[in-house]
Amino acid sequence: MHCCANCFAHPWLKDYVTDRHKLVGACDFCNSIEVPILPTDELALPFHRMLSMYTEADTFERGETLLSLVQGHWAVFDDSLDEDQQASLLEEIANADWDDDDGMPMVDAQGLYMTNASDLFRQTQGDVWDEFCDAVRTDPDVPIPFDDFIAEELAESEESLQAGTKSYRCRLGFHLEDYEKSPWNGVDIGPPPANSALAGRANADGQVVLYVADDEKTAVSEVRPALGLYVSVAELKLKRDCRILDLTKELPELNPFERDNLGWFLGIRDLLTRLGDEMARPLERNDDKTLYMPCQRLADYIRQNAYDGIRYPSALNPGGTNVVFFDPAVAEVIESNLVKVTVVNFDYERHKGFSEQTLAASKTWTERTDDAK
Ligand SMILES: [Zn+2]
Repeated sequence: MHCCANCFAHPWLKDYVTDRHKLVGACDFCNSIEVPILPTDELALPFHRMLSMYTEADTFERGETLLSLVQGHWAVFDDSLDEDQQASLLEEIANADWDDDDGMPMVDAQGLYMTNASDLFRQTQGDVWDEFCDAVRTDPDVPIPFDDFIAEELAESEESLQAGTKSYRCRLGFHLEDYEKSPWNGVDIGPPPANSALAGRANADGQVVLYVADDEKTAVSEVRPALGLYVSVAELKLKRDCRILDLTKELPELNPFERDNLGWFLGIRDLLTRLGDEMARPLERNDDKTLYMPCQRLADYIRQNAYDGIRYPSALNPGGTNVVFFDPAVAEVIESNLVKVTVVNFDYERHKGFSEQTLAASKTWTERTDDAK
């Protein structure tokens, strides 16, 4: 059987067929005539790479047809092929090298599958991280679940900031002298001295780090000012080049047909997103510092891997980004200005009780307390 570039929507597959064809003729699937065609078995290896992220569904509820999964995730086949044509092309390619001796079932395009990531028995990196977040709040010494292997993958999210790069930092209120308002300046708005550094998302009590925002509006939002309040805004400048881990970075698109270990790479990406979400999460209660523990441990890990800081999304100004630098002396305040808050936007929803995740966490906690008795 032969297929052609018109059968596919994925650009890499279209090129693959066009580049490798040796024959011109009629396509067996989309009925194109006089087009470059390729035997379906020549696509078996790239398709097996893509299909490696799927597994047969263990329950009916969790399953989707394989065809709808691959179309939804990767837009593989052209829409000019109807569903039956797409299904028979998928099966023809995936089963081209099928061998009844190796025990693997034939691929069934209309069979129920799920992604490996949702497989109960094989945890993703993200699941491992979620478990750590729960565990560290009751036992701060639980080892962080990353090994050196992950350190290599993190490099994909690395970003270099040059000396001179600007950032912003705010403090509520102003300096008052002789009835004159002036913005907080210098050390009054820079990093706090070591003896007064309060624990934050990326630092334990007494550990001084520098929190900044990449733009002025995000910096103002981060101090949660009320309407009508004055906020001092400092502009800072980096004194040297820095290497940061950017958890907001848009990563290059994965090509599922070329990557080995596709599921692993998708898992790492999912993990990076979750780490960013964790860093961004606003505290629900100001007095519960245990909520910062996962982030503090993450920050330690990233610092040990020779990064100067972490960029993470702002929950208070969606779309904005913040950076925490581990060395507070890395930037200096150049100038500061006083601004008055004229509009505050917010949205809310009615509290619907505790989420399943919170309940699961508290259940684990209860079980552990029971064990200790
Ligand atoms: Zn075709």
